[in-house]
Amino acid sequence: MEKNLIACFEKDLPKDRVRYFTKDILIEAIKAAVREKRNRIISQEHIDDLIDNKPYIIIKSEHHKKDEMRLWIHFDDYIDFIDVSILRFESIPIGAISENNCVIPEDPKITESKRPYPNGREWQERVERKPVRRQYNFRKEVLEAYSFQCAVCSVSNPTFLDAAHILPVIKGNNDTLNNGICLCKNHHIAFDNNLLGIKPNGDIIVTEDSGIKTEFNKMEYPKNKDDYPSQENLTIKFNDFLNKNK
Ligand SMILES: [Zn+2]
Repeated sequence: MEKNLIACFEKDLPKDRVRYFTKDILIEAIKAAVREKRNRIISQEHIDDLIDNKPYIIIKSEHHKKDEMRLWIHFDDYIDFIDVSILRFESIPIGAISENNCVIPEDPKITESKRPYPNGREWQERVERKPVRRQYNFRKEVLEAYSFQCAVCSVSNPTFLDAAHILPVIKGNNDTLNNGICLCKNHHIAFDNNLLGIKPNGDIIVTEDSGIKTEFNKMEYPKNKDDYPSQENLTIKFNDFLNKNK
């Protein structure tokens, strides 16, 4: 190993320690990068030529995106990089450098113990970028569909408007237009807390002691019929409203 290579080792490690990939661990990381739709990956052809159990040293690591690291790997005659999650980064073996500049591999038991699933099961990281983007589109699509007006009152200033989910996304319901209703902030809170209910036929019900008022008795629908709220979701949500207000 050349001296100049050691000079550019990862800054956060002691000078006599290096993180490294073996062929197996790298293949796992590449498969994960494909699955998790990370931006840049090492090509498959390069991988086929690698030698089993040889340590391929990470010469540089940097925070690339939120919860993502970009790792620069020194192969025999080239340097390439891969993006991995922080969790995967932390599971990568760390070896010591011997007097004659060889890598002394980490005890396989230690490497195994750093895996989030020690039984050898492969794991998938959640990539957080996509939902953020979807949320943004969801709001835009819902507000546009309802012509920038609350479905139960005449508030039409976008600052006070929300794209309310009929059923929460967290329960596996997606961010589709048909799971959304445009509501002003007050009516959104009332809807989420079952102080305001919308029947599957569009009738608006408010609980007596909530003090909530609506201007309409029936919700204002989007201009386009395809954008109407899902009957099924409204039914589930309205049953929830009835249960909470028994
Ligand atoms: Zn409103």
